[in-house]
Amino acid sequence: MGDLADLFRVLFGKRFPFKFVYSKDYWMVDVGKHVFPLQKYRIIYENLLMMGARKDRFFRSRAATDEEVLLVHTPKYLKRLREAALSRAELQALEMRFSPELVRFARLAVGGTILTARKALEDGLAVHIGGGFHHAFPDHGEGFCVLNDVAVAAAKMIAEKRVRKVMIVDMDVHHGNGTAAAFAGREEVFTFSVHQMDVYPSDKPSGSLDVGLWSGDGDDPYLGAVRAHVPRIFEEFGPGLVLYLAGADPYEKDQLGGLKLTKEGLKERDKIVIGSARARGIPVAVVLAGGYAPDIEDTVDIHLNTVRVAQRVQRVHS
Ligand SMILES: [Zn+2]
Repeated sequence: MGDLADLFRVLFGKRFPFKFVYSKDYWMVDVGKHVFPLQKYRIIYENLLMMGARKDRFFRSRAATDEEVLLVHTPKYLKRLREAALSRAELQALEMRFSPELVRFARLAVGGTILTARKALEDGLAVHIGGGFHHAFPDHGEGFCVLNDVAVAAAKMIAEKRVRKVMIVDMDVHHGNGTAAAFAGREEVFTFSVHQMDVYPSDKPSGSLDVGLWSGDGDDPYLGAVRAHVPRIFEEFGPGLVLYLAGADPYEKDQLGGLKLTKEGLKERDKIVIGSARARGIPVAVVLAGGYAPDIEDTVDIHLNTVRVAQRVQRVHS
């Protein structure tokens, strides 16, 4: 079986015209019994190998440095994380068991999204089998998110003058509250969020453009909004990089979302976002973000569909 998989890899090694970023440490952290399926990272990685992705297409995340984290987060918050000195309210808001390992996981995710952004700028597209922790604010974490990998990666690419403007396209079912707060008043970062109104987070600080949908809306209003806005804002804002949170949680069976999108609808969403960016020569860094279907195979399938869409688009535009 192993030999057959190797043969496939040799035969179809060029199947993925872009790089992946991943770390096996993503699923090693012990968060206890939790709705967040950390093992999805491993299953997706293994599936990609079975689909013919060569191991040398995967780049390992390294933990973000303090300097990188501080591009977005406050020194006081970082100090509290380092010293495991979060208040009871902060621990509650995190909704995840706190540990030094969880902080390391968060730092790895930040480093991973930075690396994915770099690879996307080199090749036009890259996929992080991780990341998308958009509920982390500069001064606190919440909703399973300790550090905001996407915000730090955007700030880092601008700080290094690799790009002048970044657009964050956030299609996780939950509003990207931490990201919106991080970039309020910063004109070089455009934050676009399509999310469900009647779920967490109750406070949704305004981003550059927010589309709020309601429980049960389904494919049509969602895709209508994506079609109406995505190509237009790419044209108008002209980002040098798109960071795309391809959340699997708008899915109809999701336990934490109720937008009721079908898998076909989610594929169409990916096609519009990735296709519209690449057709304009805009590099895209994809991160996975949330996904809480009762059957983890559904979450994995949706994320793999995003990779398949990326594959098809990138074959045309690489
Ligand atoms: Zn979510």
